[in-house]
Amino acid sequence: MIVLKFGGTSVGNSTAIRRVGIIIKARLERAPFVVVSAVGGVTDRLFELRDLSLQGQLWEESLERLCGLHREILAELEVDVQLVDGLLAELKTLLEEIAATGECDGRALDHLVSFGERMSARILAAHLQAEGIDSIAVDAFDAGLVTDGRPQRARPLADVNSRIQEACKTLEGVVVATGYIARDEEGNITTLGRGGSDYTASIFGAALGAEEIQIWTDVDGVMTADPRIVEKASPLDTLSFEEAAELAFYGARVIHPATMIPAVAQDIPIRVLNTHRPDFPGTLILGDLKEADRGVKSITSKSHVSVVNIVAPRMLDQYGFLAQVANVFSRFEVVVDIIATSEVSIAFTTQRGESLDPAIAELREFSRVEVYHDREQVSVVGEDIRDRIGFASEVFEVLGNLNVNIELISFGATRINLSFLVGKGQAGDVVRGLHERLFEQ
Ligand code: ASP
Ligand code: MG
Repeated sequence: MIVLKFGGTSVGNSTAIRRVGIIIKARLERAPFVVVSAVGGVTDRLFELRDLSLQGQLWEESLERLCGLHREILAELEVDVQLVDGLLAELKTLLEEIAATGECDGRALDHLVSFGERMSARILAAHLQAEGIDSIAVDAFDAGLVTDGRPQRARPLADVNSRIQEACKTLEGVVVATGYIARDEEGNITTLGRGGSDYTASIFGAALGAEEIQIWTDVDGVMTADPRIVEKASPLDTLSFEEAAELAFYGARVIHPATMIPAVAQDIPIRVLNTHRPDFPGTLILGDLKEADRGVKSITSKSHVSVVNIVAPRMLDQYGFLAQVANVFSRFEVVVDIIATSEVSIAFTTQRGESLDPAIAELREFSRVEVYHDREQVSVVGEDIRDRIGFASEVFEVLGNLNVNIELISFGATRINLSFLVGKGQAGDVVRGLHERLFEQ
């Protein structure tokens, strides 16, 4: 069997859904198990609805538009227009509750945003049925996807594989499962974090022993750079799991970083494909790369990176200091990215999140801390780049020619990643310059 995951734009309207139907139909022999995102933009709108209802603003109108969008798709697909009315009514009740109480905790938020995928899965399954394909929509939590209870970033329980195998035993036909959402052991709805449907696909792929996990998007695969930044960016044939994970983490948006975890464990290849060009082979992500496939793969960037400089109060006890700092990070769940240390100071980068300010307040209790926001981070990723003679000097030459100063560098911690920090507004030029030098010559 294969797992096919379709993202929001791939099910964004009736035309796109018909295209997806054709793709699935052509692959029936491989026993597809389908995972689907919410209709494009719907998750964002659900988050907005939370804000509107919390602020006591007119959320009804916005909900009406959301209802209209889904009903229109159903009508255009010529299936039961009332198919998701039950879910829409449930959603309305929840919003009324939020508006009335003025409260929406993490748990309620996960419940609220779960409606997107619950509706899209039903719509796609109905369309497949109308096309004569035996198909059934299933909420991932009814297919065994049970997680811990952390709102917005739940992770599957250790025995998720056997739970999924057990729950899926009796399902027949093409299963269309909801991406992104799950349930904890108490039965509360949870989510895997934004973009989490890719992760759902690989969780199911690993549990069900898929021969391939296919991530269907609207681009030709993972690219040498973001095509919006670099005109000449081109799709990659192959990537290692490790490269893909680094790229995803460092800003390539095609695939969720956690997607690689279940696939690595079972050594199942992941393929990134384009719904607009279904015959194009896309990018294959796998465990072992041939020698010829090693080397620089892609350049990514991300903005709004924060740099935190921490200076120890005294020169003594450097290891104790590191431990103290690490302890604060871990208690506030601050994700540390690049890190550099000297004898008396530690500098690290992180993404500004809710937990950063309280973490910094605590660091200030025992050290001097400076924080700078809005830096940009550039990463060059590829197997073995660490060991390529002259690679680093090539990169720094490009930076020199662009007159760009770098603030923090991380190189050598893995074999496959060189990351550094530049100032606000500089990453675009750097990515273009590096792409030209590393791929276009
Ligand atoms: N619908 C969710 C989101 O927009 C999950 C996904 O699309 O992967 O984040
Ligand atoms: Mg996505």
